[in-house]
Amino acid sequence: MTQTSGDQVLVLNSGSSSVKFALINPGRGERVLDGLAERLGTQDATLRIRRHSTEPDAEPDAEPAGEHAAEPLPPGATHRDAVATILDRLGDAPLAGAGHRVVHGGERFTASVLVDDDVIDDIRSFIPLAPLQNPANLAGIEAVRAIRPDLPQVAVFDTAFHQTMAPSAYRYAVPGEWYERHGVRRYGFHGISYRYVSARAAELLGRPLRDLRLVIAHLGNGCSAVAVRDGVSVDTTMGLTPLEGLVMGSRSGDVDPGLFGYLAAKANLTVETITNELNTRSGLLALSGVGNDMRAVQDAAAQGHEQARLALDVFVHRLAKAIAGLVTTLDRLDALVFTAGIGENSPVVRSAVLARLGFLGLTEDPSANANHGRSTNGRITLPATLPATPPAAQALVIPTDEELMIARDTARLVAPA
Ligand code: ADP
Repeated sequence: MTQTSGDQVLVLNSGSSSVKFALINPGRGERVLDGLAERLGTQDATLRIRRHSTEPDAEPDAEPAGEHAAEPLPPGATHRDAVATILDRLGDAPLAGAGHRVVHGGERFTASVLVDDDVIDDIRSFIPLAPLQNPANLAGIEAVRAIRPDLPQVAVFDTAFHQTMAPSAYRYAVPGEWYERHGVRRYGFHGISYRYVSARAAELLGRPLRDLRLVIAHLGNGCSAVAVRDGVSVDTTMGLTPLEGLVMGSRSGDVDPGLFGYLAAKANLTVETITNELNTRSGLLALSGVGNDMRAVQDAAAQGHEQARLALDVFVHRLAKAIAGLVTTLDRLDALVFTAGIGENSPVVRSAVLARLGFLGLTEDPSANANHGRSTNGRITLPATLPATPPAAQALVIPTDEELMIARDTARLVAPA
């Protein structure tokens, strides 16, 4: 099979029954197309592709030039079938390589890597730490390998950014052999997003990343926050798994681990059932009773729905507390950054969090916040009245772009030295 080398990167984010993909020109920050294959392994597997405007000045998140209806994939289509169809639809796109989001890289991967047999074995060895995600990520890698064996592939890890944390931040106070034999420690996630957003924050603030002290809150369906000091992660709210920390759409975040024994004795629940409930039937969903989607929760709360109000209050309480806690790992705060679905789009959540963080010198600019900071270089707080060195803390909204980050890493690693 011949391989056309070029300047575009196919970015793949493979889930247990889906493959999200994007074709990106990382040099120009241009998204050529993206799409989603979903319901893989079922009778209703489908593929949807949308092509973006390729105007030279187009923003990476510009409106799609054309929305394509979902096309059926063969019933029972696998990841490999989906990837084969995606590659086929790309036609003769000049591909430099394929970049994959991989959720768990354990302690082995501190940065993105070119995929080879050893890397695949290592990703497989971390399956017990990410039993749903790593097998799906591997399925994507193996599908590309089978169909385009000559195409260089790169693995980009959600955990890698946090490998700079000190033992004081990553060790749990549990028996040492749990860590030494079983890898029980805090790893942290959303690292691809944090790396992208940190770099954008430095650009927007016009200051070198190595001098900045940031707290970034990635608030999507999964939610976490990180403290970034001199460009590296020093602490984060997620831990061994993406269940620790903040309240999320359907995940509980922190609970007392004592509840496992308590519910086993009191309600005869198994570890498996409790774990599943904490991951899929908790969070905003459980508290609000209206769903796991922040838009629905906010709308219901605004109409006086008491449970939805409580869900919002718990979400904000825990988030503000976590942000303040993370600031203790920095010796000052330069910027608090909001990103991902809720962070980028919810003035309500941002405003409520900022109202709790006045003691950090943050005062909401209501019109900038309502406008998501779009006319103020991302800024949603009022500028300090007196000049200071270093400048006073501010809050920013910065749209994340994990796919572009993966495409950039891929282009860098596949380029001949
Ligand atoms: P994922 O983690 O799956 O990538 P996203 O980053 O897209 O998720 O975030 C999804 C979350 O963002 C959902 O809770 C959704 O309700 C929320 N969201 C999206 N738009 C808005 C909005 N306008 N206001 C409040 N929340 C929003």
